Amino acid sequence: MKIEAHEVERRVETFKAAVQEAGLKLTHQRLEVFRELASSADHPDAHGIYDSVKHRLPTVSLDTVYRTLRTLSDLGLINMLGTAGESIRFDANTRKHHHFVCVNCGLVRDFENEELSALQVQEDLVGFGRVLETQIEVRGICNDCRNKS
Ligand SMILES: [Zn+2]
Ligand SMILES: [Zn+2]
Repeated sequence: MKIEAHEVERRVETFKAAVQEAGLKLTHQRLEVFRELASSADHPDAHGIYDSVKHRLPTVSLDTVYRTLRTLSDLGLINMLGTAGESIRFDANTRKHHHFVCVNCGLVRDFENEELSALQVQEDLVGFGRVLETQIEVRGICNDCRNKS
């Protein structure tokens, strides 16, 4: 599933500004990796992004794509999704949002919900650590999986 062009451009422009602010070089490679991630609603893993960018970046390796994604993630320019037992997936949507996750095929989709975003949890979660943000994961069966069964 593709993200609308104007939203991709918004993400890319925000990204360019953030890269500059972070004092990072805006290389062609970083830009292409980000653009690929920003264009997809699928929250792809490094493999998926590599498969898509390797046509445009013939010299790029999977390892480079992975390291680029880790760098961008460390700087908070993209987010990582931890799904247990699966490879790490990445998210270029840095707006406040939540996820619908299909428990059958692993599909991830973004949705926004002001009420959920305003949800307050206790500042210290019973000794686990300090809360930075609250992101809701809604689990379900996606329409494709429902139609197949
Ligand atoms: Zn599904
Ligand atoms: Zn997301």
